[in-house]
Amino acid sequence: MYYNNDTIVFSDGQWLKASEAKGSLYSQTLHYGSGIFEGIRSYDANGEVSVFKAKEHYERFLYSAEKMHIKCDYSVEELTALTYELLDKNNLKDAYVRPLLYLGENMTLHTVDTVHLLLCAWEWGKYLGDSLLNVMVSSYERPNPKAVPVEAKVTGHYTNSILATTEAKAKGFDEALLLDRNGSVAEGSGANFFFEKEGILYTPPLGNILPGITRLTAMDIAEEMGIEVREEYFPPEAVKGADGAFFTGTAAEIAGIGFLDGSPFRLQWEETIGFRIAKAYQKLVRKPHSNKKLSESKWN
Ligand code: PMP
Repeated sequence: MYYNNDTIVFSDGQWLKASEAKGSLYSQTLHYGSGIFEGIRSYDANGEVSVFKAKEHYERFLYSAEKMHIKCDYSVEELTALTYELLDKNNLKDAYVRPLLYLGENMTLHTVDTVHLLLCAWEWGKYLGDSLLNVMVSSYERPNPKAVPVEAKVTGHYTNSILATTEAKAKGFDEALLLDRNGSVAEGSGANFFFEKEGILYTPPLGNILPGITRLTAMDIAEEMGIEVREEYFPPEAVKGADGAFFTGTAAEIAGIGFLDGSPFRLQWEETIGFRIAKAYQKLVRKPHSNKKLSESKWN
């Protein structure tokens, strides 16, 4: 599903067949979760491939690397150029791009100087599907921001997300909504959260969440529509019985929520602000953007 015999990846400065690229079983990342990554989408914008918010994603990539003391020898511009080359080499337009920095062989808990970069891409439908989601409040909390940099996209953080989604699926739900250590709503396993009440959108502030790029895009769209967005802490009880709710994420895009812990939202999804934002988002991502490939790259 992620690759076939023709798929090309960028691995440690080389364009290789995915089926022939290699990684070490002694990578510190594999054992201890100390890698960083991004999740980016590209779209077919009038026949041209457009990587949505490439700059923002690669800025966060470098931020995550810095937080984890992982060296990255590539700039935002170089990573963006490589992404366009990757898509071109794989004949992809509507795609999901996964850049990953993983560490070299080391079984100690000291940081490692050898860093590997992998860039790969594949076609991926809407991550949470198209139907309204049946969501449960998770028994797992988001990681304590004093224990790990929750605002960075670190591979090891996703053990928390996997536990939450596994619990939700086992109980017959589609997705989990995780609280922070104070009992306020934080975010989904791989998406940020918004709810709507009397024409106002509410979303948790930064601090216990990944600062989602789609979250900011949804806030920009809301602002353009003249809709107020409040960044506030709120308990899950404030969400139940509200007018509507949705998740935002690069993979999930804008995904409407039907129920929280079995409790439905007051409005039909089509009547919500979330629905309007979802429509505007689909238009926006297919607009050609200005982060075009650099004309020359030393990896050509
Ligand atoms: N929270 C978490 C935990 C995530 O993994 C993601 C996906 N990257 C998001 C939020 C949404 O972030 P973005 O909109 O930048 O994809």
